[in-house]
Amino acid sequence: MPTPTRPARRSWLEATGQLWKLHLFFALMGAAVVLTVPILGFPGLAVVLPVSPAAICLLQMACFAGAMLWLAGSMICERCQGSFAWYFVTHGDLGSWLVRLRAAAECPRCGDEPDLR
Ligand SMILES: [Zn+2]
Repeated sequence: MPTPTRPARRSWLEATGQLWKLHLFFALMGAAVVLTVPILGFPGLAVVLPVSPAAICLLQMACFAGAMLWLAGSMICERCQGSFAWYFVTHGDLGSWLVRLRAAAECPRCGDEPDLR
């Protein structure tokens, strides 16, 4: 008789419906990177753009700062009210924070497992 298999557990972000918040973080970081091109990659491009290089630089810094603030403040655990994403940035190996954040099935602060509620 085959043993019943449990469905694969979703990640905490998927199970709580907050995965879109990580995607918005990626979009903001992508915008910051794209805005770096006219500043550093092709200095001549900044000359033909209708805004000053300083304005592009300020917009780029705003996108980056906004992305980091969004990362720290948007993905909140309902149970412990802690910042889910910021925990991974500030704890453990900094080189793998995104992998650990994306794969985690439970809140690292309180152990909340939304798929098991
Ligand atoms: Zn929690």
